[in-house]
Amino acid sequence: MSEVIIIGGGPAGLAAAIECGKLGMPARVLEMDHCVGGLSRTVNYKGYRFDIGGHRFFTKSAEVQSLWEETLDEDFLVRPRLSRIYYRNRFFHYPLKPFNALAGLGPIESARIMASYLTAKWGSSRPEGDSFEDWVVRRFGRRLFEIFFRTYTEKVWGIPCSEIAAEWSAQRIQGLSLTKAVWNALRPGPGGTAIKTLIEEFHYPRFGPGQMYEAFTGRARRMGGEVLMEREAVRIDWRADRIEAVWSRDADGGLERHEGSHFISSMPITELVLRMEPRPPEEVVQAAKALGYRGILTVNLILNRERMFPDTWIYVHAPEVRVGRIQNFKNWSPAMVPDPRHTSVGLEYFCWEGDDLWTRSDASLIDLGIREMQSLRLSEPADVLDANVVRMPKAYCLHTRTYSKQMDILRRFLAPMSNLQPVGRAGMFKYNNSDHSILTALYAARNIAGAEYDVWRVNTDCTYHEEGRRPESQ
Ligand SMILES: Cc1cc2nc3c(=O)[nH]c(=O)nc-3n(C[C@H](O)[C@H](O)[C@H](O)COP(=O)(O)OP(=O)(O)OC[C@H]3O[C@@H](n4cnc5c(N)ncnc54)[C@H](O)[C@@H]3O)c2cc1C
Repeated sequence: MSEVIIIGGGPAGLAAAIECGKLGMPARVLEMDHCVGGLSRTVNYKGYRFDIGGHRFFTKSAEVQSLWEETLDEDFLVRPRLSRIYYRNRFFHYPLKPFNALAGLGPIESARIMASYLTAKWGSSRPEGDSFEDWVVRRFGRRLFEIFFRTYTEKVWGIPCSEIAAEWSAQRIQGLSLTKAVWNALRPGPGGTAIKTLIEEFHYPRFGPGQMYEAFTGRARRMGGEVLMEREAVRIDWRADRIEAVWSRDADGGLERHEGSHFISSMPITELVLRMEPRPPEEVVQAAKALGYRGILTVNLILNRERMFPDTWIYVHAPEVRVGRIQNFKNWSPAMVPDPRHTSVGLEYFCWEGDDLWTRSDASLIDLGIREMQSLRLSEPADVLDANVVRMPKAYCLHTRTYSKQMDILRRFLAPMSNLQPVGRAGMFKYNNSDHSILTALYAARNIAGAEYDVWRVNTDCTYHEEGRRPESQ
């Protein structure tokens, strides 16, 4: 019998397995997919490597940083960051260069932004509500909101800004980078303090984030842990205050029962609850069903161009195209592209599982990507040598204005189960980056050995072991 059963072989599940190994506790990871890494995997297509969106490695947690460093050593590169925003047929440097921004927006628009800001700050039309839109308008003014916040945010989330929780704003706001940068450049007095805090370089594995989590897998196994692939947790047996076992299904449909004394789950918390036997109370089931996720699909293009653009990624705020962000993987690490004469890019489309984008054929999505690259004047159709599409469900936990009520119900139901700890991103229905996800897993493993961390406090309270952490857009 394995002592600790861990659901999910993403950063959180694998970090938990390593920590269990360090603490001398045998652990078994059940991963439903054929590869590890979860959202942080790297897809290898004919030797060209693509992330699910670019994954920067940055953290204020010294122990997560050293876990990454000791795992990859010299393959953990330090890379320069360059990113710009495409809007109104122009590229705005980010961090902002004031003349570039002024030239892009023009003095009249800049003056309008300032007037709208003053009205929102001190005028009678100051919004009182608790949505993302209200929060941003109160802080920056309606004009800036309309120009730089609304389009990109609604591309990512697929719902009106008036329905997104304001509590999420503070974390997300830096991701809407031009806004902050414009504001710093335009506001009176010595601006730029925020710009100084922006991260200008980041760590990145030579062969993408998947390399890190494949190495995590090797470490976990060398420390006595098991990492079982293509084992989907399909049923979780519980009674009163304990989890008794997890049932997994393999690729051939075979069922296996895994008993353990402790369980760590990084599978989406809603699915965890909905797969519990006996069926949880109706209120809990309904709460789980009411929580939603946003998916992402990437159209990955291999281009017959040695160089394309200098950015690591470009935010596409322009409403006339559906792509939200474009990654240039050769600039993340040259080793992502096996042939130096070529470049590879990943176009990110945010969508709902089952919507018009999600259900389109790969050929049609590739065609869309090629056309949008052309309309953004980034490449010509003839440049494209090959392409593929990757669909990733449940990439973003949807934090609507009412999601916390449902989460309270799930947490109240799970709290008495003393041998179960949800960890990670979808595992906790939180907007956790990989470092937060890893930290929750390390704490969960230590709790089994007698520590008393409050795993839910990671990434909610800046003073909780990661002081000063400034999360940024994903
Ligand atoms: C577009 C995008 C960009 C991002 N960029 C960054 C970035 O730059 N930097 C950063 O730090 N973070 C970034 N993140 C966040 C990062 O991807 C996550 O924080 C991290 O991958 C979460 O790790 P996890 O293990 O909790 O979950 P996941 O990565 O989701 O892994 C969960 C694993 O569980 C498995 N699983 C699910 N259900 C079951 C089941 N029933 N049975 C068995 N296995 C199951 C899945 O297959 C998966 O392998 C980004 C996320 C997205 C979507």
